[in-house]
Amino acid sequence: MMIEFKNEPFTDFSKEENRKAFETALLKVKAEMGKEYDIIIGGERIKTGRKVKSINPSNVDEVIGIVNEADTELAEKAMQTAYETFKSWKKVKPEARASLLFKAAAILRRKKHEFSAWMVLEAGKSWVEADADTAEAIDFMEFYGREMIRLSERQPLVRIPGEDNHLYYRPLGVGAIIPPWNFPLAILVGMTTSAIVTGNTVVLKPATPTNVIAAKFMEVLHEAGVPDGVVNYVPGPGGEVGEYFVTHPLTRFISFTGSKEVGLRINELAAKRAPGQKWIKRVIAEMGGKDGIVVDSDCDLDFAAETIVKSAFGFSGQKCSACSRVIAHQDIYDELLEKVVAKTSQLKVGEAQTPGIDLGPVVDEKAYNKILEYIEIGKKEGRLMTGGGKAEGNGYFIQPTVFADVAPDARIAQEEIFGPVVAFIKAKDFDHALEIANNTEFGLTGSVISRNRLHLEKAREEFFVGNLYFNRKCTGALVGVHPFGGFNMSGTDSKAGGRDYLLLFTQAQVVSEQL
Ligand code: GLU
Repeated sequence: MMIEFKNEPFTDFSKEENRKAFETALLKVKAEMGKEYDIIIGGERIKTGRKVKSINPSNVDEVIGIVNEADTELAEKAMQTAYETFKSWKKVKPEARASLLFKAAAILRRKKHEFSAWMVLEAGKSWVEADADTAEAIDFMEFYGREMIRLSERQPLVRIPGEDNHLYYRPLGVGAIIPPWNFPLAILVGMTTSAIVTGNTVVLKPATPTNVIAAKFMEVLHEAGVPDGVVNYVPGPGGEVGEYFVTHPLTRFISFTGSKEVGLRINELAAKRAPGQKWIKRVIAEMGGKDGIVVDSDCDLDFAAETIVKSAFGFSGQKCSACSRVIAHQDIYDELLEKVVAKTSQLKVGEAQTPGIDLGPVVDEKAYNKILEYIEIGKKEGRLMTGGGKAEGNGYFIQPTVFADVAPDARIAQEEIFGPVVAFIKAKDFDHALEIANNTEFGLTGSVISRNRLHLEKAREEFFVGNLYFNRKCTGALVGVHPFGGFNMSGTDSKAGGRDYLLLFTQAQVVSEQL
């Protein structure tokens, strides 16, 4: 019997021993900073003339690592290698593939703080956020390993006399894996291992700001014994290497997490049949959000304020699940606003490695400039209550920012900012609040804070998001507990960490024998 899946516990940093262990991991990682990382194709390590520096967003003078970038020639080599390796990998027994995930999970568990420390330094995650990211990565492997075993068992079919029928989930082929930088370990691991445990091989183009953490995960896969060529590590510019993979005739599926713009472009490119292409490419895309928290007139306002602050400013709002709109009933609007502003102005912004900070930096210069631009737009569209610009430091620090009295159709109420900016919108009543909540092109997460059972039940039916939460924050989905993914422009309705997820990387074959 398989041991039942259980979520990896988070580290309790109130304990001295845990803080010490984390500090030791940070020192270890710092001693390894600045190293060079090669492209890995079929186990071969390749250096190129193109190198890109990964830097610490908390201190832009610090180089985390130097990464070799591929061009289209190397992308082609990676694709051919993945295609060749598929022929043998697809024959490896599902249980054996699952075991490799369990082994990789065990390695990651042993090196937990070290991986979290890499994320603190490369992605600007606070200790707590980085720890949750590593825990989620472990969860994905433990969960998908078990799921593969379940799918490899005899599947239930209706029996008829005189026939023996079986249904098998077969792998698809070569997948292009294009993960985001915001969960540089968890989502990368989830996307990569779901694809390989089902018997596919992949070309992995990591998100440039977090190339190094992806290289570190390659070391885990190697140590676990995943055969060469199953996962090929191919960093490079998205417009060049990513598009090459997306348009390649041998690509069977694309698994992407990132912005709406890039997701739509991938979907469009993938829809076009390349010469020699034998299949319709499958696109699994997890895109943006404009997530709202609806606050009802009947609720605990201190709790609501705390929930909003956690949901909006965790990892500086750089989660597609982050709250960027508060839709508050007019009766409690002013009081709630005051409480949120008071809490927000007490948040500590600082270097991610400093224990106890609430917000680290945003990931890079591009994100920094974009968010600051939106803050300027917000100053025209609403009333600035707190924050409103850069914060101190030699990195990409932005003050947590709250705007009040924003119109539901304002740009800052409609467009994904992906930063620590939240817009307050006033609703006449609960129905009006739901109407506003649904009035964006996205549909990823949402929360309702209310004591009114009828209102909660109405929201259950009408609040159109993939992950709807009642009386809790709208971030922090747990693998297996809250399968994650959204509606409309938030993606292709996939549910990472859920029982349907692995099916996206398989095709079902029926074999029917007359007896
Ligand atoms: N699954 C994460 C959460 O629930 C968000 C993932 C993302 O930002 O892409 O907070």
